[in-house]
Amino acid sequence: MRGPIARPGPGTAVTVLGMARSGLAAAEWLLRVGCRVRVTEKTDSAPLRAQARRLQKMGAIVECGGHTRAFVDGSSLVVASPGVPASADPIRWALSSGIPVVNELDMASWYCSGRIVAVTGSNGKSTVVTLIGQMLTESGLDAIVCGNIGTPLSAVLPRVGPKTRVVLETSSFQLEQNKAFHPEVGVVLNLTDNHLDRHGSFAEYQQAKGRMFAYQTPSEWALLNADQSGSSALEKLAQGQLVWFSRKRPVAGAYFKNGELVLNLGSTNGTVCKINQLYGRGVHHEENALAASCAAALMGASVKACGRVLRSFVGLPHRQQKIAVYRGVTFINDSKATTVAAGICAIEATAGPVILIAGGRDKGSDFTRLQPWVKRLKAAVLIGEDGPKIARCLNGKIPLVQSASMNEAVKKAFELARTGGSVLLSPMCTSFDMFRDFEDRGEKFVEAVKTVTG
Ligand code: ADP
Repeated sequence: MRGPIARPGPGTAVTVLGMARSGLAAAEWLLRVGCRVRVTEKTDSAPLRAQARRLQKMGAIVECGGHTRAFVDGSSLVVASPGVPASADPIRWALSSGIPVVNELDMASWYCSGRIVAVTGSNGKSTVVTLIGQMLTESGLDAIVCGNIGTPLSAVLPRVGPKTRVVLETSSFQLEQNKAFHPEVGVVLNLTDNHLDRHGSFAEYQQAKGRMFAYQTPSEWALLNADQSGSSALEKLAQGQLVWFSRKRPVAGAYFKNGELVLNLGSTNGTVCKINQLYGRGVHHEENALAASCAAALMGASVKACGRVLRSFVGLPHRQQKIAVYRGVTFINDSKATTVAAGICAIEATAGPVILIAGGRDKGSDFTRLQPWVKRLKAAVLIGEDGPKIARCLNGKIPLVQSASMNEAVKKAFELARTGGSVLLSPMCTSFDMFRDFEDRGEKFVEAVKTVTG
């Protein structure tokens, strides 16, 4: 057992709350270890029913289309999916009956025999876990990248052995209810006003990220960004050993010295690569490179392997991805940018003048933070439900156009660019008002670019 709540053994009654990706994976794993599993899901649909039948064949009892108290009563544990708010009925019922509630991450980490490095932060998580995974693999180690980036931890458990390095992308939704999870290395990359719709205030959001460290043992590691003022509050929450990354000053961890990225970890020291050899230019690439090499080295990666990966990495799709250059105009797909910080980071890194395509469903962001960057913009094309909110912050400063579809937005942006600069899709909002997800939004952008460029 890795936390204060008992890990459910064979025959234990466990209720899984929510039947999306991580709920399904949790239920399957618990069935595999012999628990008596019930699954309760608020919504109902044909695909959900198909999943329900699959779980029923494996021995689970499933209800869709609403929660009943009988599903929770009699359970020894409730495993909640990360999307379920703490105010949901089944969580209240469980707590009022004294039944412990954990999330998928807590539960899966009890059974994880491998070594876990977990990454959280407002932006850069997927990039950094991918880099760490590649650095470990390049060092000849067995590494699995999982969590929010794709496959839940519960789903990879059958492939994990004691030597496996599990590189886990975690969100603040998962961490806010952490009751047991303690990675060997926990990384908080950065903190900006992300997800304030759900967390209420920045302090609460910060506390949620800090929960990553709440159950760490003294021999485990907390890796923080020394260049961010918010890190000092996180430092106080760390239970294990502290290490840092910094572009600006020497630290115990990873930093820049004489134009090189160096590691200073006691156990692992040396030059990883020159800064100008990094796969990309800009502050965020540098921070991600520092964090990834430090975390990977703590997990056993070699300095040389980290360098090889940082020199050859090509970046992930939908993150400041160059799509085409046509008649002097560069088209960039940054559909994954759902925060103002990510948008600013893209504007900063993009060759101007920039025609920005932005908008979608707002997460409670402060778009006035864009104002110092307006001078880099030639015009903006706004899409989606909350495009008008961004328009209000940019009003009077640059030409603004509203568009009803991605096709139209790209066409208008290209007209505005005329003969040069960049058309940048960096929405700073979620995609769910117009698209299935950020990948769908990015693919629609790429299709629209193809239409314009012939
Ligand atoms: P996450 O998994 O946290 O959403 P990604 O690696 O998928 O992070 O990148 C999401 C967006 O954030 C992209 O638009 C990317 O260009 C931008 N980004 C990546 N790293 C950083 C960083 N360190 N700081 C700010 N923005 C970043």
